[in-house]
This record gives sequence, C-alpha cells and structure tokens, in this order.
Amino acid sequence: MSDSNTNLNAESFSFKAETKQLLNILIHSLYKDRDVFLRELLSNASDALNRLRFEMLTNQNVLDSKAELAIRINVDKESRMITIQDSGIGMTKDEIMENLGTIAQSGARKFLEATKDNKGDFTQVIGQFGVGFYSVFMVADWVRVTSRSHALQAQAVSWYATGDDSYQISAGEMSERGTRIEIKLKEDAAEFADEYRLKNIIHRHSDYIGFPIYVGDEQQQVNKQTSIWRSSRQEITDEQYKDFYRQMTMEFEDPQTRIHVVTDAPVQLYALLFIPAKHERSMFSLRKEDGLKLYSRNILIDDYNKDLLPEYLRFVQGVVDSEDLPLNVSRETVQSSGLMPKLKKVVTGQVLKELETLAKKDADKYSSFWIEFGAYLKQGIAANQGDGESIHPLLRFKTNRQPETWSSLDDYIGRIKDDQKIIYYIIGDDPKSVLRSPHLDYFDKKGTEVLLLTDAMDSFMLMGLRNFKEHEFKNVAQAEINDNEQTKEDNEAQKIPESDFNELIERFKQTLGERVTDIRASNRLSQSIARLADAEGSANSDMQRVYKLLGKEYEIPKKILELNPAHDILKKLVEMKPDSELSALVIEQIYDSALLVEGLHPDPSSMAPRIQQIIEAALANKT
Ligand code: ADP
Ligand code: MG
Repeated sequence: MSDSNTNLNAESFSFKAETKQLLNILIHSLYKDRDVFLRELLSNASDALNRLRFEMLTNQNVLDSKAELAIRINVDKESRMITIQDSGIGMTKDEIMENLGTIAQSGARKFLEATKDNKGDFTQVIGQFGVGFYSVFMVADWVRVTSRSHALQAQAVSWYATGDDSYQISAGEMSERGTRIEIKLKEDAAEFADEYRLKNIIHRHSDYIGFPIYVGDEQQQVNKQTSIWRSSRQEITDEQYKDFYRQMTMEFEDPQTRIHVVTDAPVQLYALLFIPAKHERSMFSLRKEDGLKLYSRNILIDDYNKDLLPEYLRFVQGVVDSEDLPLNVSRETVQSSGLMPKLKKVVTGQVLKELETLAKKDADKYSSFWIEFGAYLKQGIAANQGDGESIHPLLRFKTNRQPETWSSLDDYIGRIKDDQKIIYYIIGDDPKSVLRSPHLDYFDKKGTEVLLLTDAMDSFMLMGLRNFKEHEFKNVAQAEINDNEQTKEDNEAQKIPESDFNELIERFKQTLGERVTDIRASNRLSQSIARLADAEGSANSDMQRVYKLLGKEYEIPKKILELNPAHDILKKLVEMKPDSELSALVIEQIYDSALLVEGLHPDPSSMAPRIQQIIEAALANKT
C-alpha cells in the first residue's frame, strides 16, 4: 500500500459538478458524527453480498462460488489505514465508473439542497440520497476501491480519489471476487484507526447486517448478524427501532406505532411494521412506492410488495420475512405460490389488531392516527373486501351531540335508547355547517345522536356500510323516518292553514318545475324553512355526491322539497302577491339555500345577484 498514486497507466476522469460540490462540503465541513462513513461502507458491502447471493440463486457460475459471504475489516494504526473487504458481487470497470463517478449526480443535488435549506445534520442520512459512499471523504485523505466482479471473465479494476475534482481508474490487483476499500485517514480522523472504536460503531449501527463482519488480526466476528426483525423484542431498544425506521424510510418524524411480530402458525413469519406519523411521504422519503419489503430467510425478494396488505392499509411501512417462502424462486413465482394470501391474512390481522389495541389503550394517540389515516380505513369499508367488519370498530365519528370528540360506533350504540335500531347519519361538506342543516332540526330537538359525515371519503364509505351490530345505517335526509312518537300536533297552532299552504306549494311547483320530485309539508323542521329530502331507499344522491367529489360531471340530484308550515318566512310569502317577482326570487333562494346546506350546490356564487335583489327589495320596504 502506498500513499502515492503514481500509476502511469491510470486514466483520469472528472466528477460531475454536483458531485464535486458534495465532496467539497464533506471534506471541509466539521461534522460531529463522522462515524457514519463506516455504516455506509458496510451497508454497501452488505448490499453487494445480498446481490451476489440473489444472483447465485439462479447462477452458480460465478468467481469463487465457494467463498464465504463476509466482510473483513483491518486496521493499521501506524499508517492510519482502514481496509474493508467484501466477497460480494464486485464491479467491472464500467460499473465502478458508473457507480462511483457518474450516477450519484441527482442524489448529490438533492443532498445539497437538503443541507442548504435545512440546518439539520444530513450526513446522518446521507445514505438515503444514494451518495452514502462519498461520506468516506469526511475522514479520508484518499480512498482506493479495488474490485473484481463475480463475472468469470472480468478483470480487477481500481478507482482512486482524494476528494478533488477527479478520480483515477486503473487496472487493479485482486484475484478474489468482491470489493476492497482502502482508506487513508486524515490526520484529524486518526481515532478511527482503532479496532475497538470500529467495533463500537458496528455494534451501534450495523449490528443487524446479515453477513459476518470480522475485525482485526484475529478476525473476530463483531456483529450479531440477525436482522432486527428476527431479533427478539426484548433485545431491541426504542432507539434501534427508530434508527431502523429512519434508515428504511428516511422519514425524520418518528413513526406513530410499530408492530413487531413473530408467528409460527398458520405460517412462519417475522414482521416489523410501522405506521408513519404522516400519510404523505416526506420530500426525501426513500420509499418511492407503497408496499412492504419482502424477505425470504433474510434475502430481499421484493422491495415494494403490494400483496401483503390490502390496499387500504398501504400506508404501513416495514418488512415481512418468512421461512416458508421457497428460496430459489423468482419474484413472479412468489406471487403465484399459495403462500401470499396466508401471509397477507396474518399481516393484515396483526395491523388491525394493533390498531384496536391502540384505540383501547390510548384514545388520544388513536385520534391522531385517525385524523391522519381515517380516510384509508373508510376506503377499506368502501372496497368491502370481506374484512369490512374488522374495520368497523376502528371507525371514528363526530356527532351532533359530541361534535368535538371522536366517537366509535360502539360509543354511539352505548348512548342510544334501547329500542333505537338505527344509526343515523348526515352528510355534509364540513363539520360546522352541517350542524346547521335542517335535517338535524328534528333530531336535535329529540336529542337523538346523528353521525356527522363531512369527509370526502364518507360518501364512498357508505357504499360498504350497511349494518353495525344489528343496527342499520340511515341518512337523516331520507324523507320518512318510521317514528311512532312523532309529535304531529306539536306546533299545529302556529302552522299556515292548509288551504293557504296548498296554494303556496303550487307556487313553489310553478317556479321550481322539474328540479324537485315533489313538494310537501314537513313535521320534521323547526328552525329551518325547508330541506331537500331523499325518497325512501334512494341511493341516487349519494352517488351524485361521489361524482361531485371526483370532479366528474354530475347532475343536481332531484329531491323532495319539504317545507316548514310553521316558518315565518313562509307565512310572509303566503301574504305576498302570488305573481310578484319577489315571491319567485324568494322561492328560488329557498331552494338554492337548501342545495347549499346539502353541499350539492354546483355554483354558489351564482346566487349573489339574486341575493342582492332580495336585499334591495327588503330595504325598499323599510322606507
Ligand atoms: P447507494 O448505496 O445508495 O447506491 P452509494 O453511494 O453508497 O449509494 O454507492 C453507490 C454505488 O456504488 C452502489 O449502488 C453500488 O452499485 C456501488 N458500490 C458501492 N460499494 C460497493 C461494494 N462494496 N461492492 C459493490 N458495489 C458497490
Ligand atoms: Mg450505499
């Protein structure tokens, strides 16, 4: 080993602009936690070993096919050298130039952006930008990577750089398969030329690497070598769980919940799953798609497996590893082996169970989960894939009686009168305005609890929500409610006399024409003038609402307009000349307002000119 690089046969190549900038920062900034470099190099070695192992599932025809899959580290204190060698997949000349010279470009740019806007120490997660290798320049005067590909005819190649603008490529001296990284430490990084120090770092950050890491002259294995998900829960600290999550996702926020399970029946599996803090992936998220990482006996088979969880649980992140998956099979065969549905059932069951436990144990924490991910569970109900029932206990609602807190369906049932076999709900656009809906007049007065469905997903959810524990769901906008104690005589005295009222209905019919299916008196209204009701059993308007939410063309659903015969405005209307312009304007406005509170008005601002006319008329009257 020599410090100099006077290799006459070396070709020199220039790093791309962003990589130069990245190297410049790494070399000249003062970082606290420079030991990151070791984790990054070991993670690369582990990747290379994994890839070799994967390759060998189908191709035994590789260099050194019998060699142990391992990582070896040697240290020379005197000369401040560290050597890390793996027996992984190796690189050809083209690959080494591409991997360590060219492709880091976009990752380097993102890393630079992140470091610029964010004062946080991004070196901790540098690996997630796909530029982990370069972290070695935090501690190195120079680095030489010598590699020999697993391909039988490939030649060894050597890559050398000091962190300046260029790197050198030359023929390498290496007879065995794999990659050797020689690091000449900077003077101020001499501390790392120490076995004890390196072992320590490995314990902290790389204990779970799935291949033996041997350190020092005696080549002692340092790491535990079981992956974190295969370790027993007692052995893992909160910090290690979080570290693992951070490394896997590069989310900076800690996960809300983690689920670590080991089962033997009906299938053998290890799973380490996380529910993120937010439903949106962060800008830097490493996870580019939904899906879990699927391992078979510690070998990564699929980075984004979507068959392990139903779609509505796609926000869950993590790893599933099963001994039962046949090893020497392609990804495609894994999908078609009958095992996947079994794994899915177990994994799904575990997630739902954990959520139920959380809901029972920590209502506040569950509420924050619900606010973030409730829409997904509602989608699960809508899709109605057989596990709808297991989602029911997880649903949360605001109600007219408890508008500030989240109630479960069980809470609701626990509060209703014994003979009430119906769970009432109202649909609207937002929790505040829905409370003013005329549909609630009657229920508020009677003290009946009604679920407030004001979320975009609610209309979809309703497509799969029929019953809960013998209780039928019913929209309060439905015209008839079979209610024996309906107090018909309630406000008989204050009502408009029947003949006048019939005449009024005629006027409404003339003005509104085809826009409503019927117009009639209602006993259900107290504060409100009117409401738009659905005929019993008509699901039509819910579908129109779905279309509206989807931004599709939708028709204003035709409904029954119910009028409050005791309302002052209607009494005044009766007194007005039937053919007066103002009368027609008011009728139009009553209908439009009813549409508006239903959240069905296609163009609310179109009401403004009419409202102005009505105001003018009202003011004219005052004088
Ligand atoms: P990442 O690991 O995210 O791809 P790195 O900067 O850590 O980014 O490494 C860049 C690339 O260099 C790797 O993707 C890999 O192709 C190659 N590489 C690095 N170290 C090794 C190694 N020990 N064996 C084989 N290839 C390696
Ligand atoms: Mg890496």
